[in-house]
Amino acid sequence: MKLLDGKLASQAIKEELRLLVAQRVAEGKKVPHLAAILIGNNGASATYVSAKVKACEETGFKSTLIKFEESITEHTLLKKIEELNTDPDIDGILVQLPLPAHIAEEKIITAIDPEKDVDGFHPINLGKMVQGQASYIPATPYGIMLLLAHYQLDITGKHAVVIGRSNIVGRPMSILLSGNTQPGNCTVTLCHSKTKDLARHCQEADIIVAALGKAEFLKAEMVKQDAIVIDVGITRVNDASKKSGFRLLGDVAFEAVAKKCEWITPVPGGVGPMTIAALLKNTFHACVKRD
Ligand code: NAP
Repeated sequence: MKLLDGKLASQAIKEELRLLVAQRVAEGKKVPHLAAILIGNNGASATYVSAKVKACEETGFKSTLIKFEESITEHTLLKKIEELNTDPDIDGILVQLPLPAHIAEEKIITAIDPEKDVDGFHPINLGKMVQGQASYIPATPYGIMLLLAHYQLDITGKHAVVIGRSNIVGRPMSILLSGNTQPGNCTVTLCHSKTKDLARHCQEADIIVAALGKAEFLKAEMVKQDAIVIDVGITRVNDASKKSGFRLLGDVAFEAVAKKCEWITPVPGGVGPMTIAALLKNTFHACVKRD
């Protein structure tokens, strides 16, 4: 078993970006500026946003963190997004999901200027991605493609099973893996909660991307010998032995599955840091496009 180390690969990408930003500064150009909106008191969301802000600092980007109470109205949030859309200093906007129940996620995502939509969730960016046009690709699947590229894995012609069909992870992942790109060119099966005989699909897969959000769902008996396994899931489980009171589990029963894999991502330290690296790459490109 070999580890697809997202921490290591993301550091290499961040270092590349840091040098590019330093070059921009030397040329008198503006540095990329990410605006992140965090709503409410969800501990996991706060952790993700602060990791993104910290990564901006490490790479020489500017970042602005905007916090709102859980009770914020949709109208106020839309007004803030409009303000950021028209602010010439802001290159990228992200609204940390999930949103409170009284706010329509679709309305918020669609309100972000597609040119500043560095999370790649806007229908225009998703549509362009489907057609293979240049676009901002959703950060998690983009990060996974960057990880495969970093380790130079040749996945052409392989059978990939993606578990989960969300608009932000599973569905774009299935499209990217099936694209006529390098890495890419997989034959893809997209599974979800209504899939019959999921274990059989997984057993036939050369590559499995587990993105369903069910801790340790993928067991060793569901995985073919020498498969490549990418674990997207993050679930917090109570653990009194940890200072934080919890630990993170992926969607893969790591210990047992790793023994059968050729390559596997850990949780934490796999897809998570790659998601942030991909977000920074999108933000950098958004900045360059606006020169
Ligand atoms: P989501 O919107 O809840 O989607 C989950 C998907 O999994 C749905 O399509 C659902 O099917 C499917 N599913 C649920 N139970 C299943 C089962 N028993 N068998 C087969 N499919 C099943 O979740 P998401 O936003 O895509 O996130 C998935 C996981 O990735 C979560 O743990 C999340 O925290 C994590 N995540 C991690 C990162 C990162 O940076 N590492 C980024 C984003 C998300 P239906 O469509 O039929 O309901």
